[in-house]
Amino acid sequence: MKREKQPKRLRQMIQRYINSSPRAKSMVLINMTMIIFCTLFLAMIIYLMVFVSTSGVTLYNNSYNNRQELQYRYVIRGNIYSSDGEVLAETRIDENGNEIRYYPYGSMFAHAVGYAVNGRMGIEDYANYYLMHTGASLSERVSNDLENVKDPGYNVGSTLSVELQKVADDYLGMYNGAVIVSEAKTGRILVLLSHPDFNPGTIKEDWESITTVPGNSQLLNRATQGLYPPGSTFKIITALEYYRENPDSWQDYSYTCNGSITHDDYRVSCIYGTVHGELDLESSFARSCNSSFVNIGLSLNRNSWENTMNSLYFNRPIPTDMVAGSSSVYVGAGSTDYDIMQTSIGQGRTVMTPLHLNMITQAIANNGVMMKPYIIDEIVDEHGNIIRDFQPQSIGRVMTEDEADYLKNMMMAVVEYGTGRALITDAYTCAGKTGTAEFAEDINESHAWFTAFAPADDPEICVTIIIEKAGTGMEYAVPLAKRIFDAYFGV
Ligand SMILES: [Zn+2]
Repeated sequence: MKREKQPKRLRQMIQRYINSSPRAKSMVLINMTMIIFCTLFLAMIIYLMVFVSTSGVTLYNNSYNNRQELQYRYVIRGNIYSSDGEVLAETRIDENGNEIRYYPYGSMFAHAVGYAVNGRMGIEDYANYYLMHTGASLSERVSNDLENVKDPGYNVGSTLSVELQKVADDYLGMYNGAVIVSEAKTGRILVLLSHPDFNPGTIKEDWESITTVPGNSQLLNRATQGLYPPGSTFKIITALEYYRENPDSWQDYSYTCNGSITHDDYRVSCIYGTVHGELDLESSFARSCNSSFVNIGLSLNRNSWENTMNSLYFNRPIPTDMVAGSSSVYVGAGSTDYDIMQTSIGQGRTVMTPLHLNMITQAIANNGVMMKPYIIDEIVDEHGNIIRDFQPQSIGRVMTEDEADYLKNMMMAVVEYGTGRALITDAYTCAGKTGTAEFAEDINESHAWFTAFAPADDPEICVTIIIEKAGTGMEYAVPLAKRIFDAYFGV
């Protein structure tokens, strides 16, 4: 009975409408139309208010927005500074009165600071809104207008260190690759380097050659967007999953390496065919034994492993305001034993960005809490007043303190008696993991990886390095990490 009540009332209303006079009918229609339009109008106003308040900066930065053109007539683009106060980008006026964007360090900060003609990249892009807005007061604007000069845009204080960036840039030289240095407790980026690079000061003139030479991809920021097989650096994640699945028995793990492992007709060898002999979990990690890690990988629960990968931001966008690629890995349902053998040692279909590896390293150094990597410290007006101050932001806990502690000890063993021995020094302690990502038959064509932090007991900075086609991580990437740590700790 109750259920019929509603349709009955509706039927009565419709009947009343049909029986009413034409004049009454039109009044009903007019009223209904008014109600619909008022609701739509109100919704539109609310939407616009929310949209403008939340996405003003993004809206402005959209290169289709004409307001930018207008802004260029009144505002002179602000400067970009390093964390040590050096000018990384400024606008100068030449003798003919033309504005020239000048980059004192040439190609050294090419991808980090970026450019602002023919599109935008790096800080020139991320901070475009501020660089093109002025903090000048009304009276200053009037007086600038009378003198026919533009108002100064806000200046940007970056997190970048000229000293450390130079160490990395000099060492990388003609090699292709990337270097990232971040602060362990905050996620501030001190070094963001990608080779091959370009000169942002002459990018307009060089555009044709930069964009048409095939296979060069100078504009690609390899540090944040380069997708590489992580090689043995990935053993950090395999080791984490083994610990999660064997919390009480991981210390009992043992394996005898005779230089290779064969499973289902697939064979994986240790580097240079090295026979590692008797190993436990820590020495498997420190000496980077592929056979032992394939053995470990085959024992893991694939669903659980996939969850661990997911919680570490594999197969999804990593949380950062910078333009960055997504790492991918393949271990879930449907993966074959061959896939797992390859994934365990960071080969096969596994690819990662150097930034992502740096973030995982940072989380280990920071007792399991991952910080959002950031490259802009503050926005300042021409009088030095701080307009906006960017604070460290936690992404969240990606592993327990116990797990971080366990990985830290494994990474310390790498330096103490494993593939990172070149980092032994009295000046500081260090924890890290090497990688040699094979993508060709010739070992000398491999990508050299190293990811590390120091001091090991109270970490300050995290360094992640990839050098393309250089050879082993131990021989080529570890020495660069040493130079960066030495420079940072003033050795
Ligand atoms: Zn081995």
